[in-house]
Amino acid sequence: MSKSGSISVNTENIFPIIKKFLYSDHEIFLRELISNATDACQKLNTLSRIGEFKGETGDFKITVSLDTEAKTLTISDNGIGMTEEEIDKYINQLAFSGAEEFVQKYKDKADANANVIGHFGLGFYSAFMVASKVEIQTLSFREGAESASWECDGSTTFTIGKGKRETRGTDIILHLAEDSMDFNEKFKISGLLSKYCRFLPVPIEFDGKIINEEKPLWLSKPSELGDEDYIKFYQSLYPFAEAPLFWIHINVDYPFNLTGILYFPKVDSAIEAEKHKVQLYSNQVFVTDNVRDILPEFLMLLHGVIDSPDIPLNVSRSSLQSDSNVKKITSHISKKVADKLNELFKGNREDFQAKWPNIDLFVKYGMLSDEKFAEKGKDFCLLQSTDGNYKTIPEYVESVRTVQTDKDGNVVLLYTNHADEQHAYISGAVGRGYSVLKFEGPLDNHFTGYLEQHNEKVQLKRVDADALDKLIPSETSTVALLNEEEAAKLLGLFEKVNQNNDIKFKTEALSPEEPLIVVTESEYDRRMRDMSKMNGFNMFGNLPLSYQTILNTNHPKAKQLIGSDESAENVALKALNLAMLSKGLLKGEKLTAFVKSEMENL
Ligand code: ADP
Repeated sequence: MSKSGSISVNTENIFPIIKKFLYSDHEIFLRELISNATDACQKLNTLSRIGEFKGETGDFKITVSLDTEAKTLTISDNGIGMTEEEIDKYINQLAFSGAEEFVQKYKDKADANANVIGHFGLGFYSAFMVASKVEIQTLSFREGAESASWECDGSTTFTIGKGKRETRGTDIILHLAEDSMDFNEKFKISGLLSKYCRFLPVPIEFDGKIINEEKPLWLSKPSELGDEDYIKFYQSLYPFAEAPLFWIHINVDYPFNLTGILYFPKVDSAIEAEKHKVQLYSNQVFVTDNVRDILPEFLMLLHGVIDSPDIPLNVSRSSLQSDSNVKKITSHISKKVADKLNELFKGNREDFQAKWPNIDLFVKYGMLSDEKFAEKGKDFCLLQSTDGNYKTIPEYVESVRTVQTDKDGNVVLLYTNHADEQHAYISGAVGRGYSVLKFEGPLDNHFTGYLEQHNEKVQLKRVDADALDKLIPSETSTVALLNEEEAAKLLGLFEKVNQNNDIKFKTEALSPEEPLIVVTESEYDRRMRDMSKMNGFNMFGNLPLSYQTILNTNHPKAKQLIGSDESAENVALKALNLAMLSKGLLKGEKLTAFVKSEMENL
């Protein structure tokens, strides 16, 4: 005999809300129901272990079957089952009020955050996201229990009574709703099962195949695993990715529970790294691979799996980051990662250097965004100079200190952000015995600022920023070959041949290597310009980049120029053009004209 009842008399109907508000995440119903089935098996397993269940448990198994004609999807388990009283207590009361509370809390926030809050919390009633009617057929493990059934069509009334199930366990039968026919497809269901359930501990069968034969490697003991196990697991997570560089196996059970394996991918750009995402699990159930707001951004460049039931998933994204558990977890991960890098650096520096190009971005990102990571990172963050050598930050500063200290006692680190384009400047600097850092990565612009802030009396100058002799006084730069009057004449000559006003000239007594040097803006101006560009507005308007040409009053050619005849102008123009050309600054019409006139004079 069956009876009907109303799930809750004092509530508005939550079913239409359930159906509507998690629209983009409807598929999670399957994960919720399979989690319940897994729990049901594990509960009975526990009872059997502690002696409260004396019967045979047999092999636990969950079977998912789709009847495309009847349009039903059934999830069956041979777990603990429920009695009629238990259905009433757990499904009608507890689960319902849980779902109700969940809906009340989130129904107004359901728009943008739908795929966030859809993660857990709704439980059994998430079935109504895709079903017009849900049926439970169940038989409890208890001795002498009678089978029970429950049925609800998405109104607040239900039917409960005697059931049909003859063996221990539960069937959850979903009569798929007309607007959810995409779930009436085998490939859809099998895709969802392998997305959410591939690492669950109870075998799950669908369409005659077990979909979760793979072991969740992160739960194995690191001491029992070899490199090949980690690499194999990585490749099963990301089938087409290159083998990872190295990995970290995380295992914490106090004060929070966290297991996982994080891999350093072999990629050299953030875009590539972000192609494969860290997967977040909760007790082996896949939750999401959108871990933004859970992990700090630099850790998102890593790949792999994190499993933590302690990351609260049914709270809104914005409050996640301030959640104290999440904070503890992320700072733990970040510390682990820093320790691992340090260990690798100390253990085998050569190997670490070889891998550096692939982790450079990651380490700098971490140092720029996480003080604690930076604290550790300064010991293993490497700087590469244009001669190919790697040094740590303190090593590098010391190595250039004697040669590259300016008159105020600052150690001036020269860097290039484009070794090809700035080749002439680099060879000029190297010729003077200076070292130039290769800062060509996407974060290096910011990293210059970081280095200045965190290292006293250290300044960075881009190699084309200013006359090197001015930065770092050269011994030979004191006595000028030209006197003041002659210098003024030289200046006048160049100002005359330069018909356009885009170049400013000045004279200076430099060491005698080059007759004239073209420099772009000062380091300060350039940084301001870069910054304003990055912030999305350009306070400099469309000001053309200005150049300054320093005429070297110490160069023998200078003397010749001012002393000679009418051909001086030609020579000056040619020298200017060559200087511009060598820095890649001679372009367009001027370049064409210059090349043409040189060709004519061949
Ligand atoms: P939660 O799993 O978070 O407790 P649910 O709404 O998913 O909430 O489920 C409510 C309750 O219904 C469960 O706690 C469990 O007692 C019972 N239940 C659900 N599915 C099953 C099942 N397949 N076998 C046995 N009991 C189940």
